Amino acid sequence: MEMVDPLDIRHGNKILLFLLERGEIKKTDLLEIMSSSDSLSRSLLDLINAGLIESKTEILGRKVILTKLTPLGKKVADQLKKADDILAGYNNRKDQEMASIQPLYNRGKQCYLCRSQNPERAKFCMNCGERLE
Ligand SMILES: [Zn+2]
Repeated sequence: MEMVDPLDIRHGNKILLFLLERGEIKKTDLLEIMSSSDSLSRSLLDLINAGLIESKTEILGRKVILTKLTPLGKKVADQLKKADDILAGYNNRKDQEMASIQPLYNRGKQCYLCRSQNPERAKFCMNCGERLE
């Protein structure tokens, strides 16, 4: 059985999303999102073999390799984007929830005697036992 490196999959996903956003681009533009041209070439080859992207060589002054999504690749990239958006929405919601919870911690009653912070509903100071108004 052939092992699939999770890093390669992540790179592949990144490339698919990048192409979805940009359309047809030069291979060298992909170095913006990849650290090494070695892993870029490997990921591109994987994606080409999977039928998700296609590349062609054009002479535009000099030799340029252009890559773009195939129709299948576009479908996969759309799904990835949806999953990404859902995750981003989830993280946003979590942040908002935390922001709305936060003030509850700070709210409460301060004891006029010992200055301890007590919960809003406390009737007596949890530190010194003084009655709270
Ligand atoms: Zn107190």
